[in-house]
Amino acid sequence: ISLPVSIVLITGTILFVLYSRVTRHSLADDIRSGIENEEFFLVYQPVICAEDGKAKGVEALVRWQHPQMGLVRPDLFIPIAEEGKLIVPLTNYIFERALKDFADMKVEPGFRIAFNVAPEHFTQDDIESKFIHLRDSLERIGVKPLIEITERQLLTPDICQCIESLRQLGILVAIDDFGTGQTTLSLLQTMPLDYLKIDKCFIDTIGQDSVTSHVLDTIIELSHKMNYVVVAEGVETQEQADYLTSRQVHFLQGYLFAKPMKLADLKLWLVEHFKH
Ligand code: C2E
Ligand code: MG
Ligand code: MG
Ligand code: MG
Repeated sequence: ISLPVSIVLITGTILFVLYSRVTRHSLADDIRSGIENEEFFLVYQPVICAEDGKAKGVEALVRWQHPQMGLVRPDLFIPIAEEGKLIVPLTNYIFERALKDFADMKVEPGFRIAFNVAPEHFTQDDIESKFIHLRDSLERIGVKPLIEITERQLLTPDICQCIESLRQLGILVAIDDFGTGQTTLSLLQTMPLDYLKIDKCFIDTIGQDSVTSHVLDTIIELSHKMNYVVVAEGVETQEQADYLTSRQVHFLQGYLFAKPMKLADLKLWLVEHFKH
């Protein structure tokens, strides 16, 4: 490359790094104040039982109504929150928010709320008491918590230990985005889990005669052998739903059934859904 071109490239890189440092810094600050100002809220996406078509629970998904930027998606701010150690207060806020949202709601017995918990969250000291509080508070309103741990990051032995202690507290644990991360088969063997959520990228391969669609079949078979409850995320077509049901996938989640909804819409949706 010629000298002027490399100067431009190097300057561009430096500027970009500086810029992202600055914006990341201020975004982390914004997250901190956003928690205080209650700018974060939850949307809920129903999880459907493949066998009877009924909603058996919801997944809580966080949203951020930023005062200047408007609605911000979690893919943008969760990594920043994780980096800046803000994931712990944010997750605690999310738990409290869900407890408030569901406090006066009538749900079917055994209804589940699934929370996404970043592996970083498990490094705090008083983690057990936080989860006991969540479990007991939800129990009072007839709801069981389910903790989804993403497989995108490496699950270290320490995190596996935490997962095990959660299960001993009677909290269900799901591995999320399965197939996209670094979980080895031997880790699956040693780490007891309750649910396995197959990532959307595998669901997208249904109907295609590709190698990945064989991978999907293999993941489902393996889950059955390990006695996991299997959940498929990102189900968008009836063809996908039929295929997954024929393969005995237990739960389905996706735009085909419902998009993530604000609390008020969820309440209406649940009333409609349980009406015969
Ligand atoms: P995830 O846990 O795998 O959540 C599923 C994502 O797929 C959600 O995006 C959901 O809105 C989207 N989705 C569901 N059904 C469909 C579908 O049929 N088609 C398509 N195209 N998308 C569908 P969302 O809400 O943007 O969340 C993205 C990720 O951010 C989540 O992936 C999760 O890893 C993370 N996240 C969300 N909320 C929280 C939270 O409260 N705490 C933590 N730590 N992470 C969160
Ligand atoms: Mg999830
Ligand atoms: Mg997922
Ligand atoms: Mg996913």
